[in-house]
Amino acid sequence: HKYVYDFAEGNKDQKDLLGGKGANLAEMTNIGLPVPPGFTITTTACQAYLTTGKEPTGLADQVGSHLEALEREMGRTLGDPEDPLLVSVRSGAKFSMPGMMETVLNVGLNDRSVVGLARQAGGSTGPDSSSDSDRFAWDSYRRLIQMFGKTVCDVPGEDFEHALDDAKRAKGSDLDLDLDADDLRALVVTYKKIFRQRTGREFPQEPREQLDLAIRAVFESWNAERAVIYRRQERLPAEAGTAVNVVAMVFGNLGTDSGTGVAFTRDPASGAQGIYGDYLANAQGEDVVSGIRNTVPLQELERIDKNSYDELLDYMARLERHYKDLCDIEFTIERGKLWMLQTRVGKRTAAAAFNIAGQLVDEGLIDLDEALHRVNGAQLAQLMFPRFKLDHEFQPVATGIGASPGAAVGKVVFTSARAVELAGQGEAVILVRRETNPDDLNGMIAAQGILTSRGGKTSHAAVVARGMGKTCVSGADQLDVDIPAKRFAVAGHTVNEGDVVSIDGTTGKVYLGEVPVMPSEVVRYFEGTLDPERTDDVLVRAVHRVMTHADSRRRLAVRTNADTKADAARARRFGAQGIGLCRTEHMFLGDRRELVERLILASTDADREQALAALLPLQRADFIEIFREMDGLPVTVRLIDPPLHEFLPPLEQLAVNVAVAQERGEAAAREEALLAAVRRMHEENPMLGLRGVRLGLVIPGLFAMQVRAITEAAVAVTESGGSAFPEIMVPLVGAVQELETVRAETEKIIAEVVGGSGVEVLIGTMIEVPRAALTAGEIAEAAQFFSFGTNDLTQMAWGFSRDDVEGAFFWRYLELGIFGISPFESIDRDGVGRLVRIAAEEGRAARSELKLGVCGEHGGDPDSVHFFHEVGLDYVSCSPFRVPVARLEAGRAAV
Ligand code: PEP
Ligand code: MG
Repeated sequence: HKYVYDFAEGNKDQKDLLGGKGANLAEMTNIGLPVPPGFTITTTACQAYLTTGKEPTGLADQVGSHLEALEREMGRTLGDPEDPLLVSVRSGAKFSMPGMMETVLNVGLNDRSVVGLARQAGGSTGPDSSSDSDRFAWDSYRRLIQMFGKTVCDVPGEDFEHALDDAKRAKGSDLDLDLDADDLRALVVTYKKIFRQRTGREFPQEPREQLDLAIRAVFESWNAERAVIYRRQERLPAEAGTAVNVVAMVFGNLGTDSGTGVAFTRDPASGAQGIYGDYLANAQGEDVVSGIRNTVPLQELERIDKNSYDELLDYMARLERHYKDLCDIEFTIERGKLWMLQTRVGKRTAAAAFNIAGQLVDEGLIDLDEALHRVNGAQLAQLMFPRFKLDHEFQPVATGIGASPGAAVGKVVFTSARAVELAGQGEAVILVRRETNPDDLNGMIAAQGILTSRGGKTSHAAVVARGMGKTCVSGADQLDVDIPAKRFAVAGHTVNEGDVVSIDGTTGKVYLGEVPVMPSEVVRYFEGTLDPERTDDVLVRAVHRVMTHADSRRRLAVRTNADTKADAARARRFGAQGIGLCRTEHMFLGDRRELVERLILASTDADREQALAALLPLQRADFIEIFREMDGLPVTVRLIDPPLHEFLPPLEQLAVNVAVAQERGEAAAREEALLAAVRRMHEENPMLGLRGVRLGLVIPGLFAMQVRAITEAAVAVTESGGSAFPEIMVPLVGAVQELETVRAETEKIIAEVVGGSGVEVLIGTMIEVPRAALTAGEIAEAAQFFSFGTNDLTQMAWGFSRDDVEGAFFWRYLELGIFGISPFESIDRDGVGRLVRIAAEEGRAARSELKLGVCGEHGGDPDSVHFFHEVGLDYVSCSPFRVPVARLEAGRAAV
């Protein structure tokens, strides 16, 4: 087994094996950039160590021979007393896990080599002298003991911090830099004593032992608690392991001609071209990160060290051309010599992602297909949310986790009950809790946004909020929330119930007061009120360009789920190519309830027929509106699906009304009849009860009325010059016989109504019961199209009540890793997805021209869209707002 790779042996595509940092160090080495020599120990070695608890056989020898090669290259030996080679030992997993794992610098220093280091650094006059070089060497040594003690041997970090503070206090200063060589020599003695007391052994003097222990500590840091939590939150695989990079040390703290910095090849916030970064003279990398000293903008380096600056700019340009993307870079200058310590394709905001993709196309670095890979639907969705209009007046008071995007403003409340109460009075509220639990559900529904001081991306609050599409910031741990006192404290402020706060579910930032909200320009573009050719908004132009290309590439059509004229119109502006699901339940609500009650209570055929006859023209008018809005495009109308008792008042309310009437001696025949009907129709599991196609088979005339309304509407629209393409969809079918029965009746009505109008009506079914998926070949004989109802299909395949589980226990399932994301949010490829695949294949085998689509919530989920593309569906259908996201992802899936 090869466990160790020289930088010259790897490349950027080996992130699985060498980790991100190692792979990119190898790449930079190979394109001729000045990387300090070193080698990478693979993630495989780490995995082996973590499963067996010991270093895999052969690792020690391989480290030995690569170390020798490194020593030869540097002309120095690790920890040599005269002229020591020192190395850093750095973690680096496949995925960036910023600050989660360990690093040990200056490995190879000991009581003797510290003198050699001082000599190397510019001369030492002897073991007791106190030149700058001595100071530097002893400071490096004390840093090693501190880092090594803390990360390798679990010595509490404060022990060292306190000793350092004591030394500074004795010197009458609070600056590290005021400690001279003698102070640092004394500090090393103290540090070694702390080490001995805490570990029961001397600080190891043997360089190779230091190296081996540091490597082991980096392996183990993979399973440090914070790393485990981070991975869970970011849905990163727990078993990947980290690589370990052993790199020759270079020093940015050798004087004013040395320093260290970070650079971006473009602005990661906006994507704008230019030089972005920070520089800190006479410092090591950790000083920049710890923010102890103030950095200067990278442009200043031009004045400080023009040669290094020019060289850096040249490397930045080379890296961009090579990676064809925004790179971020860490570098160090040691006595005027520039070293590249790290690079990677840099993180960026959603806006920057689109802008950069557009720029790179302009620059000829990538083509439009590649541009599609540089952005994604989640980023587009972010750009479609309203945003806070922030000026310097508003500074965040806390930052938590952006758990569910959006910009929400409202009065603070601390209980679910109060949220419901105030929301009922028309107030916008933000529900603030330490963490939420199922009892908070009503308050969460009532609130504009949810803010918690605990919990991450998979906490109850986060999961439920995402499910509801509600803005949520979780884990804002700077908040000290006192529920009984109805207030929280943050950054020196006290916020009481009724005070207004603003929360940003994208960035996780929390503001006091009302931050103005502005609509998204990208939405204005999709709405058609912002002309992409005319605007000088670069983001809108970039989005337009990418979307146009996605549309030209995608195979999947995108339809919308809409059952009103307004939704249909908006979705069409957003690019919907028809309606994939028009739910008809709302056509039985409002002032039509009375007719529905009459229908349900009908005791004779004549009564029932009358009620249906009264509903017919109303529904026909609804369909006419929708067909007009979708003129020329297909509209899938689903026949009524929910159990009819959902249209009756709740049992408790009826029971009370009847009791009150009886008490008063008043007649309440109607209420009594309704109460009896509700009792009669009660179901323990309504979702598995009398609904969908079963209603059509049990209640004479109900489906027939809808079919007639749909067909008459289509004929009316066509006769007035439009063109309607209705597709009648039967819900909840599990057996072909169900569909055949409905179909026979439906065809008769269609033939009768259509006459010579030329209107064509398709008849198809939803596939949302597992049995339908498994008998799709038979069902396809009776269906011209299938539309996958992945909401019910998920509910029935998992046995999860879709209305209850997210709040009740999904947080636990996510915590346990049973799934990484709710199967109601993103398709469960292995289970539910398999049913979809079987049904698609067997359906098409039985009827080759069978149209296939999906209309469950998954139709607008980025990852699911890729799956539906893979299994060969013809279209996805989603809510109007997600139509652009689906268009983009369908394009991405196709290239
Ligand atoms: C489904 O089940 O996926 C579906 C689209 O139907 P509904 O959500 O109305 O049950
Ligand atoms: Mg359904």
